[in-house]
Amino acid sequence: MPDHVSTSPNETPLNPDGYDVLVVGGGNAALAAALSAREQGATVLVLEAAPKALRAGNSRHTRDLRCMHEKPTSVMSGSYAEDEFYKDILSVTGGKTDEKLARMTIQASAQCVDWMKRQGVRFQHALVGTLQLGRTNAFFLGGGKAMMNAYYDAALRCGVQVVYDAEVVDVVIQGGAFRNATVLRSGNRTQVTAKAVVVAAGGFESNLQWLKKAWGPTADNILIRGTPYNQGKVIERLLAAGAQSVGDSKEGHMVAIDSRSPKFDGGIVTRLDCISLGIVVNIRGERFYDEGEDFWPKRYAIWGKLVADQPEQIAYCFFDAKSMGKFMPTLYPAINANSIAELAALLKLPVQSVVDTIKTYNEAVKPGAFNHEILDDCKTQGLKPEKTHWALKIDQPPFYAFGLRPGLTFTFFGLKVDEQARVLMKSGGPASNVFAAGESMIGNILGKGYVAGIGVTIGNVFGRIAGRSAAQRALKSEPTEDVPQEAARHVVG
Ligand SMILES: Cc1cc2nc3c(=O)[nH]c(=O)nc-3n(C[C@H](O)[C@H](O)[C@H](O)COP(=O)(O)OP(=O)(O)OC[C@H]3O[C@@H](n4cnc5c(N)ncnc54)[C@H](O)[C@@H]3O)c2cc1C
Repeated sequence: MPDHVSTSPNETPLNPDGYDVLVVGGGNAALAAALSAREQGATVLVLEAAPKALRAGNSRHTRDLRCMHEKPTSVMSGSYAEDEFYKDILSVTGGKTDEKLARMTIQASAQCVDWMKRQGVRFQHALVGTLQLGRTNAFFLGGGKAMMNAYYDAALRCGVQVVYDAEVVDVVIQGGAFRNATVLRSGNRTQVTAKAVVVAAGGFESNLQWLKKAWGPTADNILIRGTPYNQGKVIERLLAAGAQSVGDSKEGHMVAIDSRSPKFDGGIVTRLDCISLGIVVNIRGERFYDEGEDFWPKRYAIWGKLVADQPEQIAYCFFDAKSMGKFMPTLYPAINANSIAELAALLKLPVQSVVDTIKTYNEAVKPGAFNHEILDDCKTQGLKPEKTHWALKIDQPPFYAFGLRPGLTFTFFGLKVDEQARVLMKSGGPASNVFAAGESMIGNILGKGYVAGIGVTIGNVFGRIAGRSAAQRALKSEPTEDVPQEAARHVVG
């Protein structure tokens, strides 16, 4: 066996002759690409950095995807037209979106549910209740983990080779074309060749050094809601090899989560939905934003950034007995006490400042008819900043509080692609056999902001396109000309 395919005992051997398509990553986008490439008849290798028990990146934490549809379906109510979907994207990105790619994604989203069902993914009936997403989003039965297990089962059935604990640490691009990748397995580096590669390796949100470069010292207090394996290494390597970047390193999806959450992989249960029912203060005991500005899910994604901008990147949500139980259950219990002063002391906050803030707030609350289902008329008057809806006095013991930290879901900075999911090079034009899907290229559509469920949609649509395009390229391809090693080589890493 040649050197470059040597294996340690107990490791799945790699094919010494290489593959048609190499897929880097093991989440929603990667598996959509792998299954689509295999459908075209290509031989496919999936390299997943995580061990099997932790496979599937951030995708295993998901619950739903957003889809266009003209009439009610078994999994979504009403209708959701292309223009409304596009308007929703624009309202959060403020125009920082590639319209052609966004509209193409929206149109293709109409087929996502059927395609996923064909792979064995199961869905819940159209949602009813307070989430307000039953019309626009389809929810997986059993959540993202069940969706990903269905994909992996489908991959096994159709002959996709999946290797776990296999981190791609290097890629070689020669003359604008992918040649090989280096994979790290049990401390050994091995070269893998393929006729085309799909990069579906997530963003760089778990790379703490990169976050620090983007955010400065603030990064130390950011918690990562998802997988620790999305280190952005392949994005970094491709950029160094001449790929075009898209997006801003400081943009990402960030929500407020319980300050007691783990550094990585806390998932959705660490999120706190109590903000609109109480008030939020920083470590000086001062309010800093309108907690009642708009409904979850429209405004929940701003609170991560708001907390990140506060001193020491921590804030505290206070509420009273009236509001307990009116929001989604929490992972950790609220801290409680019989007086505001006692509670502030427990949290090591400046007691007098918190007491004064809550007293001033209570005095500014105007009587109204509380209704958490609508933008009600319970508000403050004469406060800076005002609380514009759901403002109730905090006066009924026991009093409760949660510490809030910024929880980063994923980053937007990545690889610029075209409508065939081909990675665009700085030298102009696309790389001939390099494709990208999912969070690795999400910045093409999301320059900033987020609409719930679009991450999985983008991964599915671009994953399928990338897999199909990569397979077609590989199956048709003439062997790429050998370029003299030193002349055209961009070896990186
Ligand atoms: C808590 C949470 C909840 C979410 N809920 C939703 C939701 O309900 N709906 C929604 O649309 N979006 C949701 N998202 C966002 C969502 O997860 C994504 O946009 C989408 O699932 C990402 O898919 P992906 O395949 O691009 O990335 P991921 O699923 O993160 O997959 C990336 C994969 O690449 C692997 N990898 C990384 N680097 C390498 C390397 N060098 N070599 C080999 N493998 C590598 C990782 O191990 C991982 O398997 C959520 C995210 C989180 C964290």
